[in-house]
Amino acid sequence: MRMNIDYWNKSIETGDREVLEKTQLADLRKTVDQALKTDFYGKRLRTEGIESGEDIRSIADLHRIPYTTKQDLRDAYPYGLLAIPLSEVVRLHVSSGTTGIPTVIYHSQADLNSWTDLGARSVIATGAGKDDVFQNMMTYGLFTGGLGLHYGGERAGMLVIPASSGNTQRQIKLMHDFKTTVVHATPSYMLHLAARMQNDGVDPASLSLRKAFVGAEPHSENVRLKIEELFGIDVYNSYGLSEMNGPAVAFECVYKKGMHVWEDAYIMEVVDPETGEPVEDGQSGELVFTTLKREATPLLRYRTRDLSFVYDTECECGRKHRRIGRIKGRTDDMLIINGVNIYPSQIEEAIMRLPEIGNNYQIIVEKSGALDKLTVKTEVRKSIFSDDAREINALRKRAIENLKSSIIVTPIVEFHEPGILPVQEGKAKRVFDMRKEEQA
Ligand code: AMP
Ligand code: ZN
Repeated sequence: MRMNIDYWNKSIETGDREVLEKTQLADLRKTVDQALKTDFYGKRLRTEGIESGEDIRSIADLHRIPYTTKQDLRDAYPYGLLAIPLSEVVRLHVSSGTTGIPTVIYHSQADLNSWTDLGARSVIATGAGKDDVFQNMMTYGLFTGGLGLHYGGERAGMLVIPASSGNTQRQIKLMHDFKTTVVHATPSYMLHLAARMQNDGVDPASLSLRKAFVGAEPHSENVRLKIEELFGIDVYNSYGLSEMNGPAVAFECVYKKGMHVWEDAYIMEVVDPETGEPVEDGQSGELVFTTLKREATPLLRYRTRDLSFVYDTECECGRKHRRIGRIKGRTDDMLIINGVNIYPSQIEEAIMRLPEIGNNYQIIVEKSGALDKLTVKTEVRKSIFSDDAREINALRKRAIENLKSSIIVTPIVEFHEPGILPVQEGKAKRVFDMRKEEQA
């Protein structure tokens, strides 16, 4: 299918890979020089015999550099990874994570400028642009979701409404009053918004909405389709993490077949999470990124713990930057239930295949004697509770069968009326592993 394609940095986006790789190498050398100025990399790189960026002769030499982990960032908190004088720093973002030990990323003005540019490039890739009204429903603050795409949206010429997250009634009013055409939110919030609109009798067709950028949490293709159908819009997957700035690391283009990783700004590797060895294109592995445009907090070979794969074909849009598939989960969110390895995304995929199943769900794992017990709580439309009991039993049976064929384990499936399961303002909390909480 031919689409109308617009580019922000056409030569960078569609230029030959040979040229791209040359600039990657030049920027990698600069980044190594920059990293050597930090306490953390100063020690680590010299131990490996790397004294200057000049010691990196090709991209393949990247392998001489050890991986950087989240724990390294925690250990280096607060200044161990800062490569420029504090007087040159203009912003920081702190992420507290689940363990509570924070990590920090600093930005110079030049860092923010290049991030803004990546943001503009990302939104333009989806076909959005200066005629759009962009309501940014990601949280503004230490979390990078809100501010992360705010400036890119402005640079692309959109009218940006910095709505931040929460206050659903106000969100709907803003969308209505200012004829919002594009939103940016977590997929779970989009589903919540749809349910709330249904409840309040607001017809999505009465709004001007055309597109949504969704990210910050794993979600299945079925959830994308569901949001597209509920609102009658196009939904684009957006990937980022605070260690690599935040949003605009990778974004879907109009073709919506995987996310282009902006490889002039990041070197991407995909590795086996156990061995750290590279995997082939198309194979699932852990994403590893190196920053190429960051002067305040350069990061080399950062292990994201996010699992994905690289498409081995070129995108029809003409961009040469490789695409990654939907994030399957994180290496640290795998559940082992009665010995079977299960990612929460497999559970979501299986239940969301059923159109009767609603917008919110929870996964609960508990001990039951010596065994593990898996319960999936999910919302279904209200009327089903007053229908013939056979209907609800048949739906439960189908949900269990779908789950069983995808995860092997037989779960208990509980149905709830819409609005019963809790909703989070930021990233959705779906998994409650009581086995861990019992130990803690
Ligand atoms: P944070 O650093 O708090 O912004 O969290 C970043 C993490 O959110 C990533 O490492 C991913 O685990 C997750 N994430 C971000 N975007 C997506 C996405 N589009 N799909 C799945 N997970 C995502
Ligand atoms: Zn494309």
